[in-house]
Amino acid sequence: MITASLLDAQPARWQNDWRECVTDPLELLRLLDLEHRLPQMMVPAPGEFPLRVPRAFIARMRRGDPRDPLLRQVLPLDSERETVEGHGHDAVGDLASREAAGVLHKYAGRALLIATGSCAIHCRYCFRRHFPYAREGAAADRWQTAIAWLREATDIEEVLLSGGDPWSLSTLRLHELTDALRELPHIRRLRVHTRLPVVLPARVDAALLDWVRGLHLPLAVVLHSNHAAELDASTAQAFARLRGAGATLLNQSVLLRGVNDDGEVLARLSEALYEQGVLPYYLHQLDRVAGAAHFAVDDGTARNLLAHLRARLPGYLVPRLVREVEGAPYKVPL
Ligand SMILES: *Cc1c(COP(=O)(O)O)cnc(C)c1O
Ligand code: SF4
Repeated sequence: MITASLLDAQPARWQNDWRECVTDPLELLRLLDLEHRLPQMMVPAPGEFPLRVPRAFIARMRRGDPRDPLLRQVLPLDSERETVEGHGHDAVGDLASREAAGVLHKYAGRALLIATGSCAIHCRYCFRRHFPYAREGAAADRWQTAIAWLREATDIEEVLLSGGDPWSLSTLRLHELTDALRELPHIRRLRVHTRLPVVLPARVDAALLDWVRGLHLPLAVVLHSNHAAELDASTAQAFARLRGAGATLLNQSVLLRGVNDDGEVLARLSEALYEQGVLPYYLHQLDRVAGAAHFAVDDGTARNLLAHLRARLPGYLVPRLVREVEGAPYKVPL
C-alpha cells in the first residue's frame, strides 16, 4: 500500500548517496592514493560503459593497493577495448528471449523484468553492459506492458525483478508494481536481484522495509557480492533489517580472475555471507561478454575451486557453480 509518508517524503538519503557516486576515474584513484600507479587504466569515452561507484563501496577498498579486489571490479582497463574471439554483445541470448518491453522469459514458471537500466555501481564484467537499456526498462511505462503480458501468462508463478538494479527505482514505483500483482493470482512468488544492499546499504531505508513488510507474496532477495571484503557492519545491518521484514536472503557471485579465483577467498565469502544471514546461491562462470575477457577463469580451474569449497565447507555454504547457456532450460551446472 502507498502510504502518505511515502508520497510527501523528502528525497531519500540514499538518493543523495546515489548522486554522490564517483564517476571520474582520476577521482577514484586520488581517493585511494593511487595516482600515477595504474598504467593500464582506461578513461571510458562517451558511449563506452562509464565508471560508477558509490563512496560507501570505495570506503571498503584498501588504500594504496592497485590489486584490491573491490577496485578491480569497477576500474576500467585498456584491455576492455580488445576484441576477443567468442566474446560478443548479447552473451546470454537476452534479445532472443525478450517477450515484451523489459520482459525476459527463459525458464519455466519464471519471468524476469528488466525493471530499469540504472545501477549505483558499474561492474566491469557486467553481462548486460551492452544490453539496449535505453529502449528497455519495464518500469518506464509504469509497468503497464509487463503487467499486460503477465496477465495473459498464467503459467508464470514467479516474477523476478532484475536490471540494472531494481532497487534503484523509487519505492513508490515498487509499490505500483506489487499493487498491480495483487490482481494476478497466478503470481505466487517475488524475487529481487539487487546489489544495492551491498554497495549502497542506505537504500535499505524505512520506506523500503515498509514495502517488504506489506508484500502479499513471499520475497527472495538475491544479493550480489563477490568478495568478503564487500561485507562490513553497514551491510550486516541492512541485511538484518531485510530479514527482519520477512525477506529470504541469497547471494550470487561471479567467478572473476584477480578478484575471487582462489579457494580460500571463496570459502571466506561463503562464511562471511552466512555470518550476515545470507546463503550462497549461485557462483556464475563469467558470461562471454565483449570487454570482460580479462576476468575469465577457465572451466578446469573453476571446477577445482568448487572441489575445494566442497571439501572445506558445510554443503549449505557451497554455491552452485553454473553457466548460462543460450537456449538451455536452466542455468547449467559445470
Ligand atoms: C537467471 C534467470 C532466472 C532465474 O533462474 P533461477 O535458476 O530460478 O535462479 C530467470 N529468468 C531469467 C531470464 C534468468 O536469466
Ligand atoms: S550491479 Fe549487476 S547489473 Fe549492475 S553493473 Fe553490476 S553486475 Fe551489472
